Amino acid sequence: MAGNFYSVECPDCENEQVVFDKASTEVACAICGHTLARPTGGKARIEGEVTETVEAR
Ligand SMILES: [Zn+2]
Repeated sequence: MAGNFYSVECPDCENEQVVFDKASTEVACAICGHTLARPTGGKARIEGEVTETVEAR
């Protein structure tokens, strides 16, 4: 299934991390553990600020 990758800035520590927009599990910040994306059954809900679309497939 097609999906996009987004670069998301963590609201707590400003770490930027790449998140898949159809993540099926919670994605946590690698630095501080803040949840950056939550699965919703379809598109994941992005909890941080999307700074860039990394790649559209
Ligand atoms: Zn963080």
